[in-house]
Amino acid sequence: MKKEIVSVVKCNSYKPREIKKALKQSFKNLEFDFKQGLKILIKPNILMPAKPSAHITTNPTLLKELCKILKNYNSKIIIAESSAYNTDKAFKVSGIEKACRNYAKILNLEKTKKVQIEIPNKLKKLMLPKILFDVDLIINVAKLKTHSLTKLTCCVKNQYGFIIGESKSSFHKIFTKLKDFSDLLLDINEKIKPELNIIDGVIGLEGNGPGTSGSPIKTGIIISSKDPIAADIVAAKTIGFKENQIPFLKRAKKRNLFNKEIEIIGEKNFKKNYKKPDTFSNSLTRAFLNLLGKPKINFDYEKCIKCGLCAKKCPTKAINLNPFPECNHKKCIGCLCCAEVCPVAAPYLKDSLLRRFIKKITGFS
Ligand code: SF4
Ligand code: SF4
Repeated sequence: MKKEIVSVVKCNSYKPREIKKALKQSFKNLEFDFKQGLKILIKPNILMPAKPSAHITTNPTLLKELCKILKNYNSKIIIAESSAYNTDKAFKVSGIEKACRNYAKILNLEKTKKVQIEIPNKLKKLMLPKILFDVDLIINVAKLKTHSLTKLTCCVKNQYGFIIGESKSSFHKIFTKLKDFSDLLLDINEKIKPELNIIDGVIGLEGNGPGTSGSPIKTGIIISSKDPIAADIVAAKTIGFKENQIPFLKRAKKRNLFNKEIEIIGEKNFKKNYKKPDTFSNSLTRAFLNLLGKPKINFDYEKCIKCGLCAKKCPTKAINLNPFPECNHKKCIGCLCCAEVCPVAAPYLKDSLLRRFIKKITGFS
């Protein structure tokens, strides 16, 4: 069986010297040689306008050090993103524009030309930024985070950021089953294949990620691979998931999209258990509880600032602003886009009375 190398390198802080050393070691482990003069597109995770201290977005120092390494090869660098909302602001607030603008062109993908590609699912066609097909190399620089819907968001999910504008949330309405949404992620990954995939796991995000409901967790690693699925398999195991507990990795295996043996170079036994999202089902008790009805979206009005973003991004228009948000649970499909975009972590999943009672008597949390 063919082998895919995944590099796992310790990196205990975002100090430039430490990041530079860890990145160089990662490229050495992967035997990745940059050619001179390439046009390179870097895709970070800039989910939303969030400060670096929230650890929701790829760290700006890591991106800056990567750009500095690439500049030694006379690379023409573009850092491109389409955030869940307000990409221009997200580039600024995340600190990425300031850190990287002297080395790279900062590109809001919402404002670029699109091309139509064929895709093997019910969409049949998908609009993607043209620039993806004009560059010599794509580098995917994801963040190590748990995710309330997909359970993990690293390299495979990061490419969903290539979907432009409203489609990002509206596809949840078309692909309501997690299995189908996982297939959509994999279809996109089949069309766009970054040659280098890096996961910023120096400080990750655990719990109800990928946005403000998650909690930063010091982890101290950088994971990388030439294959995004291989990188994500190692990332999932590193933070305490089994491969088949991540729906898109399970689908990737079923679709035979990754059938190589993984060889880890570097920290072979590194583990850091992350708190799992409340939506994670890993036991019979949880499966039984789900039979009683899944938890429903509610809003913490103490936290809510009435910005209206959740209502704007809800693909089924299940949220009314009155002036606080209220969810029409009959319309809700549980995509959690509202929680993903909320700047103050106000949306949360609330158990029914019966679920709360059973949890109380079984001690299950
Ligand atoms: S209310 Fe939230 S979870 Fe429900 S469909 Fe709208 S965005 Fe998705
Ligand atoms: S719940 Fe969050 S996104 Fe929705 S209105 Fe309140 S603050 Fe804004």
